[in-house]
Amino acid sequence: MYIGSHFKLFLSILLLPVFFIFLLAADVDFRKTDLTEEITPLAFTASSDIDNFQLPSESKVKIKEGDTFYSTLMSLGVDSALINEIAADKQVKDFTKLKINDELFIEIINDEIKIKKFDEDFYVDVLKVKGREYVFEKEKENLERVAYFKEFIITDSLYASGKKADVPDSVLGDLVYIFGWDIDYAFDIRNGDKVKILYENIYSAGKLIAYGDILAAVFFNKGEKLSVIRFTQRGRKDYYSLDSSNVRKAFLRTPIEFARISSHYNPKRKHPILNTIRAHKGTDYAAKTGTAVKVTGDGVIKNASYSDSYGYHIDVMHFNKYMTRYAHLNNFAKGIKKGVKVEQGQTIGYVGSTGLATGPHLHYEFHINGKHTDPIKVEPPNAQSINSYNKEYFKQLANQRMQLIQNLSGI
Ligand SMILES: [Zn+2]
Repeated sequence: MYIGSHFKLFLSILLLPVFFIFLLAADVDFRKTDLTEEITPLAFTASSDIDNFQLPSESKVKIKEGDTFYSTLMSLGVDSALINEIAADKQVKDFTKLKINDELFIEIINDEIKIKKFDEDFYVDVLKVKGREYVFEKEKENLERVAYFKEFIITDSLYASGKKADVPDSVLGDLVYIFGWDIDYAFDIRNGDKVKILYENIYSAGKLIAYGDILAAVFFNKGEKLSVIRFTQRGRKDYYSLDSSNVRKAFLRTPIEFARISSHYNPKRKHPILNTIRAHKGTDYAAKTGTAVKVTGDGVIKNASYSDSYGYHIDVMHFNKYMTRYAHLNNFAKGIKKGVKVEQGQTIGYVGSTGLATGPHLHYEFHINGKHTDPIKVEPPNAQSINSYNKEYFKQLANQRMQLIQNLSGI
């Protein structure tokens, strides 16, 4: 049992009818104004069920970078000729387009492999493969989203303390990501910090099939209270603080994870190859040839080409004001060319040493209004906040969820 008392749970159940009325009212609003945040009916199961997770019989596979439909089915032992046949089937086309973080639910009974993929509208695509045969169907499942509440005090690491409080791994992972924009886990975590999470699980016919999203969370860190609410705006799901600002920054700190900086921005640097004083107008990251380079913000490819000094390089425009440049690439990622839209964190190319480079590294530049800026010193703006159109509605939703957290909390 989580730390909250039965009384708190009882309270929350009492609160539910009020909640539903509110949600119904909000739902009418939703249709009228075409808001994009789906309202999650916060249904709570009977108290005894809350602790009795029925673990799904399916195993969940999260699509990672480099995974394809082909490689995923190969790993399940499906015959390669059959995979090609399935991939060529127009009906299955959307199903085969796997994106990073897509989740597949796989169940193997005797020699039948059943692969499910859920989309946002509660439809489920099911691909069944048996021997040399396959069937593809779209089913509407009677899915139910159930909200859960967990809270814990950090006594050792964030992860260990969360695990002790039975917070599912995927929820902890999401928590780390969401608060990672504000909290430096290596330096900022203190014993006694508190975490409260409201998240949802997805059930089908009473069976838990997926751990869902965090709906709202509160993190008490070093005496400071950080609250986040999930909200979807213009089709993009993000987390916002109570003042409607996006917790996500418009730019990632670095285009390569865990890479060492080998040369800083320096307007007076002696160039290592040309041996003349030539400004170094970017930051260099040492990394192995082939390391993925991620675009640091949403934007549009302005240029993906070759030049003698930059080698293969990519320029990306962001919000008409910012430009980022990625140079000395070995090659571009698939589909990267002028005019293509890219999303923050997407791999756009791979580290190399093309152009004027002494060895494999990424040269990264950050321009603001056409001027070179030190990428390390620039304070990135937050990604888009709640727009005025959604503000009133967001405020209501935030109040509901924060109130619920407060009612359920026992620490
Ligand atoms: Zn450089």
